[in-house]
Amino acid sequence: MSLDISATEYLSFVHDGNISVEEFVAKTLDRIHLMENKVHAFITMDEQSALNKARSIDKKIQAKEKTGSLLGMPVSIKDNICTNGLRTTCASKMLENFVAPYDATVVSKLKQEDAIIIGKVNLDEFAMGSTTEFSYFGPSKNPWNTEYVPGGSSGGSGVSVSALECVLSLGSDTGGSVRSPASFCSVVGLKPTYGLVSRYGLVSYANSIEQIGPIARRVEDIALIMNIISGHDSHDDTTVKENKVDYQEGLDGGIKGKKIGLVQQMMGEGIDKEVAAATKNASSKLEDLGAECVPISLDSVEHSVAAYYTIASAEASSNLARYDNLRYGYDFGSEGYEFKAYVSKVRSSFGPEVTRRMLLGAFVLSAGYYGKYYVKAQQVRAMMKSQIDMAFKKVDFLLSPTMPIPPFKIGEKIDDPLTLYLLDINTITANLAGIPAISVPFTISSSGLPIGIQLLANSFQEKSLLQTAYSLQQTTHLPGVPI
Ligand code: GLN
Repeated sequence: MSLDISATEYLSFVHDGNISVEEFVAKTLDRIHLMENKVHAFITMDEQSALNKARSIDKKIQAKEKTGSLLGMPVSIKDNICTNGLRTTCASKMLENFVAPYDATVVSKLKQEDAIIIGKVNLDEFAMGSTTEFSYFGPSKNPWNTEYVPGGSSGGSGVSVSALECVLSLGSDTGGSVRSPASFCSVVGLKPTYGLVSRYGLVSYANSIEQIGPIARRVEDIALIMNIISGHDSHDDTTVKENKVDYQEGLDGGIKGKKIGLVQQMMGEGIDKEVAAATKNASSKLEDLGAECVPISLDSVEHSVAAYYTIASAEASSNLARYDNLRYGYDFGSEGYEFKAYVSKVRSSFGPEVTRRMLLGAFVLSAGYYGKYYVKAQQVRAMMKSQIDMAFKKVDFLLSPTMPIPPFKIGEKIDDPLTLYLLDINTITANLAGIPAISVPFTISSSGLPIGIQLLANSFQEKSLLQTAYSLQQTTHLPGVPI
């Protein structure tokens, strides 16, 4: 049996007895052994407990006992989401040996449904980056061409799902980190509305804008997983008490009569020609299915990168202050150090990008500059939110390329932070405005690399957003991963 199946297909195969959980997990582990030296998605594996768990679920199935709804599905988890007993490194030397004493809420929800956590996957250090090159453990590679970046920061999540090393993954998205690897690796990634999914157990980067989000090969799998991970959590006061929505129900409802706005500022300067053409093509395919596509203007997009990097860095600099080696941090043996030397030694365990962000964050928050930068950025954010509110009075969804360019070579842009920051131009609006956004694989570029399309909806409109994404998915017939 091929590993290239959707989560929903997995469930029916196991349910019908076509494959046992143990067989599927063993096949998955073989695949991981074959692929890892090429793509490097994983930081830490949990092979023995995965197999033990698989056997115990098989036993429950045979004995017709009650099982969780995920029936042993292999899932990978971004390594900034806490897993009890399995280290959570944030791809940082600082937390190289940190083992959380508890599971993040999303992880315990998956475990309750009998998912198998097959391992922890790579990211840019503390989720700061767009390529996964800033990992202390070395870069992940794009399975479509291993000389190319897989996107980031949840690169290990995108790679592990795309390279058939697991069925599903959870990533985190502060400014595009679920959608960027989804787009670059030809898989689906959703950034949910702020407050829909618990962040308890997610190591904080920029709390006011980030969400945990799923990555899968099919839109229907995202719906399946959202039914499990969404909802109020008493451990996270920012989660809302919305009525439970069934995201799987009516997924094939179509998009007849829906109005979709093509965001002009996300299609302009700096957008690769093939990417722009793919986006226009996606909008005409949606029109063929009965939607109406109209151009729409969101001029706050032009200020979004500056506002995002000001706010995200400010929050990062205060969040990362806790890594002082007293509570958390890298233990280098502190004997004999005087205070300043000690602090500077501890803090130098951070990599270059995290250091840059902390310095930038401290600067924009400092007396004298606070009003000029941080307050201004918050004003841009407020303006952006009101433009988004106005846009959704005119249209049901927004459409854009997920990433402005197709995947590029590893190392090509690593020394150019500004160029890397500008890659987030289309993704960060959803974070600053708190709205949901999804990247759907749409086509393959002339050089054989994936191009994804982004759809955005108003807050808590995930159900209709997934319907639209599903319709778009139905218009594509993409090849499977080439390796
Ligand atoms: N590229 C963005 C950043 O570096 C987004 C990262 C993320 O979403 N975690 O901040």
